[in-house]
Amino acid sequence: MKEQFVTKKILNWYDFNKRSLPWRENVSLRKRQYNTLVSEFMLQQTQVATVIPYFDRFIKEIPNMENLAKVQNKKLIKLWEGLGYYSRVKNLKKTAKIVIKNFGGKLPDNFENLVKLPGIGEYTASAILAIAFNKPYIPLDGNIERVLKRYLYLKKEKEIQKDYLLKKKSIFGLSSRSSDYAQALMELGALICKPNNPLCDQCPIKKNCKSYKKKDFSLVKIVKKNKEKYFILKVYKKNQRYLLIKNTKFNFLRNLSIFPMEELSNPKNFHENLNFKMSNMNMNIKIQYLKEYQKIPSSYWVDRNKLSNYMLPSFTKKVVQYLEKNL
Ligand code: SF4
Repeated sequence: MKEQFVTKKILNWYDFNKRSLPWRENVSLRKRQYNTLVSEFMLQQTQVATVIPYFDRFIKEIPNMENLAKVQNKKLIKLWEGLGYYSRVKNLKKTAKIVIKNFGGKLPDNFENLVKLPGIGEYTASAILAIAFNKPYIPLDGNIERVLKRYLYLKKEKEIQKDYLLKKKSIFGLSSRSSDYAQALMELGALICKPNNPLCDQCPIKKNCKSYKKKDFSLVKIVKKNKEKYFILKVYKKNQRYLLIKNTKFNFLRNLSIFPMEELSNPKNFHENLNFKMSNMNMNIKIQYLKEYQKIPSSYWVDRNKLSNYMLPSFTKKVVQYLEKNL
C-alpha cells in the first residue's frame, strides 16, 4: 500500500512519541484481541488516564475470554466500580459468552459480525478491526475528529455532521500498518492537537493544516441538549443505616443500588437539593427525609459506616456525600 505524505508524517511522529499504554504491550495475537476488546469497552466513555489502573486490575483478574464469559457478576461489577456506565461491562460479558459459543473463543475479524455483538457499535467495531486485526479502518473517535476538523478547518453546520466527517477522514489516507496508524491519529489528537492550546509547533502535519494557517483553533460542536428530569429521592435513615433498593424500575443504573426514587413528569416549583449529570439527562433531585418506614420491594439496609463494602454507583455515592454533609 503506497502511503500518502500525511500518513507517513503521522506514523513517523507516532513511532517516536507514542505513550506506553498497557493495552499496547507486545503480546500474542489472541491476547491482543482480548486486551483491545476490554480497553475499547473501558475507553467508550472514560479518559485514558482513568482507564489504565482499571485495565491493569481487570486483565490481572480476568485474563482471557473464557474467564470473562464465566466470571461472577459480583466480581465483574466490583472491578468496574467507579468507571460508571455499567451497561458496558454487562455487555462485555455477554459478548464474551457469544464469542465462546459461536466463534470458538476468537473475536470475529469482520465488521458484520462484530457490530452484532452486545456493546459494539460501528466505532468500536472499526477500532477493534484496526487495532487488534491490523485492518484498514480509521475509527473516528473524539481525538481524530478534532484533528480532522482543525486540519481541514471544518466549521459549517453541514461540515461537522458525523456522516460528513466520516467521508472526510479519507484525507488521512491508509497504511499497511493499520493498527499503528489508527492509534497514531488518536495519539496525535490526544497529545498534540489538544482541545485547548494545541501544540502546533510539535505537530507533524502543521504545514498543510488550515487552522494553523489561519491561527484559529476554535472548534464548532453540535449542541446536544440533555433532557431535564426530575426525581424525588426518599431517604430513610435508622440506627446509622440507609435504606437502598436494587433498581429494577429505571433504565439507567439498572440492577444497581440506589435510594428509592420517583420521577415527576412536570413538577411546579421544584427546588432541587442535588443535581447529577448522566450521559443523556440532567437529573434534578429533591430529597425527602422519611421517618415512617413503608415496606419497599428489593430494599435493604446498609450501614453508613461500612458503605465501602458495598458496590455503589457514583450516583448513590454522591447522594450519600450530600446526606453526610447535610443530615
Ligand atoms: S497544526 Fe495544530 S491545529 Fe493543526 S492539526 Fe496540528 S496541532 Fe492541530
